[in-house]
This record gives sequence, C-alpha cells and structure tokens, in this order.
Amino acid sequence: MATKFDVIVIGGGPAGYHAAIRSAQLGLKTACIDKWINPLGEPAFGGTCLNVGCIPSKALLSASQKFFEAKENFAEIGIKVSDLSIDVPAMIKRKEKVVENLTKGVAGLLATNGVTILQGKAVLHAGRSVEFSSHDGEVSLFEADHIIIATGSVPVDIPPCPLVDNMIVDSAGALDFCAVPKRLGIIGAGIIGLELGSVWSRLGSEVVLLEALEEFLPTADTNISREAARQFKKQGIDIRLGSLVTGSSIKKGKVRVNYLCADKEETESFDKLIVAVGRRPYTEELLVVDSGVNLDERGFVFVDDYCSTDAPGIYAVGDVVRGPMLAHKGMEEGIMVAERIAGNKPQVNYETIPSVVYTHPEIAWVGKTEQELKASGESYKVGNFPMAASGRAMANNDTNGLVKVIADTLTDRVLGVHMICDHASELIAEAVIGMEFGTSAEDLGLTMFAHPTISEGLHEAALAVSGRAIHVANRRPKK
Ligand code: FAD
Ligand code: NAD
Repeated sequence: MATKFDVIVIGGGPAGYHAAIRSAQLGLKTACIDKWINPLGEPAFGGTCLNVGCIPSKALLSASQKFFEAKENFAEIGIKVSDLSIDVPAMIKRKEKVVENLTKGVAGLLATNGVTILQGKAVLHAGRSVEFSSHDGEVSLFEADHIIIATGSVPVDIPPCPLVDNMIVDSAGALDFCAVPKRLGIIGAGIIGLELGSVWSRLGSEVVLLEALEEFLPTADTNISREAARQFKKQGIDIRLGSLVTGSSIKKGKVRVNYLCADKEETESFDKLIVAVGRRPYTEELLVVDSGVNLDERGFVFVDDYCSTDAPGIYAVGDVVRGPMLAHKGMEEGIMVAERIAGNKPQVNYETIPSVVYTHPEIAWVGKTEQELKASGESYKVGNFPMAASGRAMANNDTNGLVKVIADTLTDRVLGVHMICDHASELIAEAVIGMEFGTSAEDLGLTMFAHPTISEGLHEAALAVSGRAIHVANRRPKK
C-alpha cells in the first residue's frame, strides 16, 4: 500500500520549501520531494535560487562591488590601497561555501519542522498519487490529499547559440568562471545579463550586451531605465539594443557571434559568451497524461488566483506558474497554499510584488510605472528626489540615482514607487509596506524617517508629490 501524506510538495526551491515548512507547522503530515544534484554530486535543497540563482549571484555581486570600490573609489575618500588584485578561485570558493551553508540549512529546516525529505524525482499520476524514484533508483508510490507542484524554471536556450562547455554558458555557468574573461559577450540585457555583466565588468572584463529589443529595461519606469542606461554606460558596459543574434561558432579559443543590428550583419568575438534570454517553466517528465493538471499555451501550469490547478487538491506555485519569476513571489504563494489547505483564507497581493535589479546603483520598483498609467489613462501626480541632494548619499560618496513616487491625483494613494540608488533593494520594502496598507503620498510625507539615511530619499520624493520637498526645488510649491 502506498504511504499516505496530507501534503506532498514536488520541488524544494523557495516556493516548494516554504510550502512544505508552513504545511508541517500547521500540523499537516508533509513530504517534500526534490531532485537537485549539486556539482559535487550531492542532493541539495533550495532549487535554482540557492544553488545557481539569487544567492550565488549576490555573493559574486557583493565581492565584485567591494573590489571595484577599492580600485576606483577608495583613493577619493582617503584610503590608499596598493597591490590590489582579485583572486577569482577564492571568490568562487566563498560563493560555494555560502551556497553549501544555505542549502544544508534548508534541509535542516525541513527536518526540524518534521517534513519527510525525499531526494529524487517525482512523477504525478492521476488520483493524487506520486511515483518517487530515489537517486539510487528505488521506486516508491505515495498518495496525498493535497499536492503542491513547485518544479520551477530552467534557462531558455536559443538555436543560434547552443551551449559549449565553458565557452558559451547559461547563467549557472557564468557563476563559475575560474578567471576574468578579457572580453565577455552576453545575449540579453535583462536582469541576469545586467547582474552578471556587472560582476565581470567590475573585475575587469570588457562587457558587451546584445539585446534584441529596441527599448532598454522596458518593464521599469522610463525615468529609471534611462538613468540606469546612463550609469551602465559610465561603468563601461556596452549595451547594444536592437541586436538580434543569428549564429555563433568557436574559432581559435574565441566565441564568434553574428547578429543583425539595424538590418546590418555584424560580428563580434568574445572570450566567453553568456546566454541570458529568459527562463521557461519546468514540467518535463512530471505529469502523466491523466494527471488532470493543464498547462497554458506558454507551458506554465494553469492556476487560478489561489494557485489551484484544474485538478482537485492539486496546486502549483513559483516559477512554474504565471507571474514574475521571483523567489519571493513563489515563497508567498507556497505559504498561501499551505494556509488554504489548513482552512485559512490568505491571498497573495500580486499588485505589490517588488522587483529588484542588484546592479550598482541598485534598481527597484513596486506598483505601476508612469508609462503604464499614461497608457491606461489614469490621472496621477509624480514626486522625484535626486540622490545628489541626499546628505547620507553625499557622506557615503555615492550620489547616483533618484527616487520617484507616483500617486493618484484625486485620492493621493501611492500607485508606484521607483528607484535607482544605493540600497534600493532594502529601501523598496518601505514602499511595499506602505502600499500594502494603502498609503497616500501624504502619509509617507508625514512619517518620520531617521536622518541621515538613504530612506530619506523616499520621504522627500513622497513630499515632492505635493510640492513639499525640503531639499530640492519643487515644481509646484504649496502653502
Ligand atoms: P526553483 O528554484 O527552480 O526550484 C524548483 C525545484 O524543483 C528544483 O530544485 C528542481 O530540481 C525541483 N524539481 C523539478 N522537477 C522535479 C521533479 N519532477 N521531481 C522532483 N524535483 C523536481 N529571484 C529573486 O527573487 N531575486 C533574485 O535576486 C534572483 N536572482 C536570480 C539570479 C539568477 C542567476 C537566476 C537564474 C535566477 C534568479 N532569481 C532571482 C529567480 C529565482 O531563482 C526563481 O524565481 C526561484 O528560484 C523560483 O523558485 P521555485 O521554487 O519556483 O523554483
Ligand atoms: P529577462 O526576461 O529579464 O531578460 C531576457 C532578455 O533577453 C530580454 O530583455 C529579452 O528581450 C532578451 N532576449 C531574448 N531573446 C533574445 C535574443 N535572441 N537575442 C538578444 N536578446 C534576447 O530574463 P533573464 O535575465 O534571463 O532572467 C530570467 C528570470 O530570472 C527573470 O524573469 C527574472 O525574474 C529572474 N531573475 C531575477 C533576478 C532578480 O530578482 N534580481 C535576478 C536574476 C534573474
């Protein structure tokens, strides 16, 4: 007889492990199945995020920014450094240590919360039955009242650029270079392209990003994407918009890339090439035909607002379903589903999902962009604050960027907050909290912010919505 659980979670990435831990905390008999194997050949929890995504990329972003600061900016603030050099293998080793600590930490959390850990592959059959094949080939059958699919996503590959070991790589390969490539090509100027391009550019690579679209970072507010393009150009990152890659080859240890730009055929030669053209939902070999779970036309598991699939008792969360492919979105969906299984009624507020690009300056936003509001004909007002006017930013020697608050003209309710500045990834949380509670720009303006902080940029931008900012000339001064 098959062993029976209350909940089986398939996938141990951020969406899956949050769902599993919360289910167990709520008293449900829970199992979490994950098939990830790390480069040492060991099973590892944490999925893309912990193994080859959020965490390792941030470890490299942090190390490379420290190196860049020491090289370029320390002299200006009176710190002399001699014999500065980068030890790439040591940097990669530290990144691996962080990954190891965290992936083992997740396994520990699952265990201490009483989740049954099953490392291997799951196949979902009809009747909420799961076939589990362990890594050593043993097959077992399990059943559950509730099944949560959290199988995540994988990089998209494009026919003109098939991956070639250590030469043409995806985002995972780009986290493991053992030396700084002299010339680095990146296909796609999206989030991964910008973050990994920043890492290697700071360490000395000449970085060229080939982006098919004519517009740079189209999902960000136009003021922010324009400022970002200016900053990246200053940093020497060469972003070529309207560049469609048509082919690639390896010749004499170099990657040659052919691309079309303004109808002209162009060629470039690189030491390494990163393909970062997006990710696709991953459901390979997961569903048998009569599982009752349907996919949409783009391959995402079809779910409603509460992450229920078409099959009763089966849910799906994280990158494998619609919405932005972000770890925190998946985590909240995982928790929501666990709570709903336990009879509670939470929901995910999809209107307040923060987006962050961890470049320098960092880029972050929540809510509507000005171009979206213009297109929908909504009436809005804007307050901007340039970080050049921030006392803390000046003290920190880092005055690039701005904060922008958009509020409804009639109600003053905040509709969107957009920023490019140092610490934007932390600062955006203040805007998310405000919007979650339906804040007005006036509420933010009436709130006391510690001085001197980068956060004061948000305070001033909120005040600027009604012409009350103190440290900038307001466009429409009010009594
Ligand atoms: P995943 O993390 O992909 O986990 C899915 C898990 O399911 C995997 O472990 C997989 O092995 C397992 N699985 C799949 N099929 C089966 C099966 N049949 N049986 C058993 N197990 C299975 N997001 C952010 O929010 N912030 C960031 O800073 C950020 N940085 C990123 C940087 C990079 C380089 C990349 C690539 C991604 C980044 N992301 C970031 C995106 C983030 O990693 C994903 O949104 C997140 O990991 C999705 O979580 P998930 O649990 O849905 O899926
Ligand atoms: P993306 O969608 O952000 O960017 C891909 C870019 O590649 C797009 O600008 C697209 O126009 C371009 N592109 C597509 N095909 C192309 C082609 N043939 N030639 C040239 N350009 C082409 O995807 P990504 O950067 O690969 O990231 C994948 C996902 O991972 C994102 O959706 C993001 O949600 C997530 N992620 C998040 C973070 C973060 O939160 N900081 C960091 C990394 C990744």
